[in-house]
Amino acid sequence: MNDEGDKEFETELDVYRDQVSKPLLRLFGAYGLGEWRWLVVGLATSVLTYGALLVTPIVLGATIDAVFTQESPYALPLVPDPWLPTERGEQFRLSATIIGAALLGGAILQWIRGVAINFFAHGVMYAVRVDAYEKMQRLDMTFFDNKETGEIISILNNDTGNLEVFFDDALGESVRIGVIVLGVTGALLYTNWQLALVTLGAIPLLVAFTWWFVRVIEPRYATVRSTIGDLNTRIENGLSGIELVKTASTETYENERVRGVSRDVFDAQMDVLKLSYFYRPGMELITGTALLATFVIGGLWVFSGPILFFDGELSIGDFVAFMLLTQQLTGPMAQLSGIVDWYENARASGKRICGLMDVPVRIENAPNPIALEDVDGRVEYDDVTFAYDGEETVLDGVTFAADAGETVALVGPTGAGKSTVAKLLLRLYDVTDGAVRVDGHDVRDVDLASLRKSVGYVSQDTFLFDGTVAENIRYGRFDASDEEVREAARAAEAHEFIENLSDGYETRVGERGVKLSGGQRQRIAIARVILQDPEIILLDEATASVDTETEYLIQRSLDRLTAERTTLAIAHRLSTIKDADTILVVEGGEIVERGSHDELLGADGLYANLWGVQAGEIDELPETFVQRVDGRTAEPRR
Ligand code: ATP
Repeated sequence: MNDEGDKEFETELDVYRDQVSKPLLRLFGAYGLGEWRWLVVGLATSVLTYGALLVTPIVLGATIDAVFTQESPYALPLVPDPWLPTERGEQFRLSATIIGAALLGGAILQWIRGVAINFFAHGVMYAVRVDAYEKMQRLDMTFFDNKETGEIISILNNDTGNLEVFFDDALGESVRIGVIVLGVTGALLYTNWQLALVTLGAIPLLVAFTWWFVRVIEPRYATVRSTIGDLNTRIENGLSGIELVKTASTETYENERVRGVSRDVFDAQMDVLKLSYFYRPGMELITGTALLATFVIGGLWVFSGPILFFDGELSIGDFVAFMLLTQQLTGPMAQLSGIVDWYENARASGKRICGLMDVPVRIENAPNPIALEDVDGRVEYDDVTFAYDGEETVLDGVTFAADAGETVALVGPTGAGKSTVAKLLLRLYDVTDGAVRVDGHDVRDVDLASLRKSVGYVSQDTFLFDGTVAENIRYGRFDASDEEVREAARAAEAHEFIENLSDGYETRVGERGVKLSGGQRQRIAIARVILQDPEIILLDEATASVDTETEYLIQRSLDRLTAERTTLAIAHRLSTIKDADTILVVEGGEIVERGSHDELLGADGLYANLWGVQAGEIDELPETFVQRVDGRTAEPRR
């Protein structure tokens, strides 16, 4: 079992996360050191702040003995005796001033401490989050094919947040415990070492109790984290599939599923809480017992001289100081388990963050990449073989070329590999064998940004960002003027419907563009590509999901877009590509027919038969072709 519990399958992220060691140290080295000034100020003021808490009991004890009971002369630790006043009134005033100054100074230091530690922790969180997001953007599509969106969001949000909590609260509390335990121990030993042993006897007990608690609770925390991860994924899935849930009327089923994982979270958290209920009272019982023992032994000592094996004097002032100091131990020690909890959380989060950072970026610029400039637009596939990560071969020996300005169409049964051909040109994946070339340059040698700028991609599921229509058209060419945006919209046959929207070009399109129809989104996407003005166009079933009239408009705008540009068009409706210079029929990952529309009709193969059915010239596809289109005899893929 890994940190996150058992999963049905291991993603790349899981694999790299499990290999991470010492994540907090690594993140501290990478991001914390950059903020070292805040850290130093924070730690220094923490020491002083909590040190100031010790001043009151010590000065109070000394004052009681010197000023009120006059049992011993006025003496303060770290202050030479000759500097101290000898008159009782003055001694009293000095004590009051020191206590007041310690309180005020403590408050000011506390403020500085808070600011410094917050700046440090939030600075680290900010840097980690920005870096993790940048890293995520650089990862290739293979990573995202297996992604769990919920998990990535959780890394960018919760995990970076856990780091912040750790560097803020846990660091602050650790310093507080360290200073108070050391300070109180020193002060108690200084005041009366014998009685100090009684009080301090509690510390090993507290540590042992906490150690036991952490060991028992750790696996339960792992279960909590794992169930919360499941819950996030479930909720994320339900949200992205909300339309399906509603149309399939499966709300009750989805509710039950979320109820189920929520129940798991509840049970896991209760398991943790049941133990926690014992911890805090247990810690308080131990410190309380030490306090009581100090009170009884110290009280009897003051009252009637030393008991048992104790000997020497114990003044009333020392006794009061003892009681006050001992009390100071209670609060911080009870926080020990909190620190462990923060640490465990931060460690698990750190592993996930580092895991993301360690996933290799497979598709990036080669050293000294060629920047594509003045692109002619010649595209060449040279004996291309391709398999998705660890899966069977999807393309085999694909060879074709499109000269600048030509249109090559890809048709064929579903799952044949047409979209895959297109993705290789954009270098969303790299070929397994062979090469894809633009203007004679292997795309792997070309600067990625310049390659993708030269290729305009219009896909069947158009994605729009939540923003205005104009922002979506401008996406990718942010410097375009309003007039250029309108011009592009006109060319995409989108201007009229945009003008009729409530706020024209300033209308918000909703998340993913839900407030627009499929055909409208499609035309906005085309306008965006027109504005981008690339030399090569990739059309992936661009008119698949629209009515005839919209299809006509879209087709007209696409004709305009592709007129002078090299075009790779994927289509199911053959009428849209019959004028292409070359039509490639892809089946089972290989090109099985190629030629112009007329040539292919003459060949009377798969294309001619599909055309016959679509054009209504033949009633149905002959059985042998049905089987091929169906994939039942999806030769020639091996
Ligand atoms: P359609 O006409 O239905 O869009 P297509 O011809 O475009 O199909 P592709 O999308 O290229 O076909 O898919 C070719 C093969 O590759 C299919 O068997 C598909 O299951 C597989 N495939 C596609 N995308 C991935 C992916 N990201 N990871 C693994 N396999 C994939």
